[in-house]
This record gives sequence, structure tokens and C-alpha cells, in this order.
Amino acid sequence: MNNNISIKRCSDIKTTEVREKNGVTYIVFPGIEKLGFIDHLFSTRLGGVSGGHYSTMNLSYTRGDDAACVNENYRRIADVLGHGRTLDDFVCTFQTHTTNIRTVTEDDRGKGPKRVRDYTDIDGLITNVPGIILGTFHADCPPVYIIDPVKKAIGLVHSGWKGTQGQIGKKAVEKMGLEYGTRASDCVCAIGPSICGDCYEIGEDVALEFSKAFTKEELDNEKILIPYPNGKYRLFLWNAIKLSLKNAGVMEENIIVTDICTKCNPDLLFSHRVHGEKRGNLMAFLSINDKTSNS
Ligand SMILES: [Zn+2]
Repeated sequence: MNNNISIKRCSDIKTTEVREKNGVTYIVFPGIEKLGFIDHLFSTRLGGVSGGHYSTMNLSYTRGDDAACVNENYRRIADVLGHGRTLDDFVCTFQTHTTNIRTVTEDDRGKGPKRVRDYTDIDGLITNVPGIILGTFHADCPPVYIIDPVKKAIGLVHSGWKGTQGQIGKKAVEKMGLEYGTRASDCVCAIGPSICGDCYEIGEDVALEFSKAFTKEELDNEKILIPYPNGKYRLFLWNAIKLSLKNAGVMEENIIVTDICTKCNPDLLFSHRVHGEKRGNLMAFLSINDKTSNS
């Protein structure tokens, strides 16, 4: 990897790989790759052209960065994803911490970097259209990748504490069931790089919201919420998302959890808790191979 950045991992079980292609450093799940018909990645700060606190791979047009730089960053990501993909193939969320999920069709192609998003308040996307690249924005909040290898359908959601409390991952699996006939027991899911439980201190207000969504037994037994003597809590979003996916019918052995935390790796990744508002955005990307092209 370039820039000699060492990666701090949260687990001895290595679930991700950090790779470089054309100077772009990115993170993948080998457990998704082995499915064969999926292209995916999670971006890092490295390999883009943005300057200052956006450096260098910022993928947000709305945080004040130069749009020409962001365009170039997307172009580089499209290159890494391969198969002749371009800016025309991305479809991005319009995130406002909801649990709303959009069914993405051919008509949506390019909405994000290339065309105006004619929707708001969308934190999750599902599709069965090959070649379209679903994209969600991140800087501590987890992405959840959902793949149905039987019906060849995918879902990608932004699951911050509000989305996780509202179980957006479970809702995406259910919506894929309605739209594509997806069975939860067929799905492979991955919770992407984001803030780990040891790094994520929250107050009584957020803890209260979680105690409404999950039972006391679930919060304790699944290690979702750990009280601290200072009146604060540690919130383990990865465990909460995992539980809600299991509740949706996803098999535990088909849920892959990241071993890389954004806050533990601020030189590699943007972290809201470390960088505050002066930062760029990372993105998760998920796409079904377009078999008509094999570059
Ligand atoms: Zn951490």
C-alpha cells in the first residue's frame, strides 16, 4: 500500500483486504468477491486529486470541494471497478438518516456524479440492473452490502445510529424480497468500514432510542450497548446491524463484519469523530457485473 500507512485492525479474523490499483487504495471483502458476479469496494482517502482537508479521495460534491476534482475521483473509482464503467453508471443515495430505500432502475443511471438526483431522503438503494453502481456516503456510519446470488439482486444502505435503530438493513432485505423475490436465507451481507464499538461513545438519549428498538436481552447478549461508569455508553453498531439482519432471516455465517474502524485509522479513512466537519466523504460501492463487457 502507498504512503506507508499502517492499518489498525479490530479483530484477529481478517475479513477485509486493502488493495491498490492505478494508485487508488481501496478496501474489499474477499467473501463478496468469491460470489463471482459482483464488483464492490470501499474507498479510502488515498489515490484521489482533492486537496486540503479533502485530500485526496473525497467523493462528496456537497462539502465544498472543487467539483472537477470530485469528478476525477469518481472516474478513478469507475476505473478500479472496471468493466468499462464510467460516471454514467453511478447511482447515489441522498442521505438524511432515514430508513427509506429506493428501487433503482435503468432510468436512474448516472444520478449522483452525472445527473441531478431527483429524489431526497434516500438512505438505501436496491437494484437488479447489471452495470449500475450503487453508492452510499460514509465517514464513521456503517455501510451494509446485501447480495442475493440466487435472484442476482443487490442492496446497499447507509446505517448510522438512526438507520440502525430503524433497522434499515432488515428493511432492505425485505424490500428485495418484495421486488425481486429475494429470500433472506440466500443473502450474503457485509458490514463495511465504520466506527467500532470501542470508539463509539454515546449519551443517554441515543441509548434510550436503542432500548426502544431492541430488548434488554438483545442489547446485553449481543453486546450492542455497554454502559460506562461516566453515564455514557459504548454503542456497537456492527453487532446491532448483525442482529437485525439475523432477525430478517439472514444466516449468521453469511454476515461478514469489517475488521477496519474509521476512527482507528484516520490517515487511511475519513472519520467524523476525528476530523469533524473539515473532511471529505468516503463511499461504499456495489454493482452486478455487466457480462457484456469484460475489460
Ligand atoms: Zn475504532
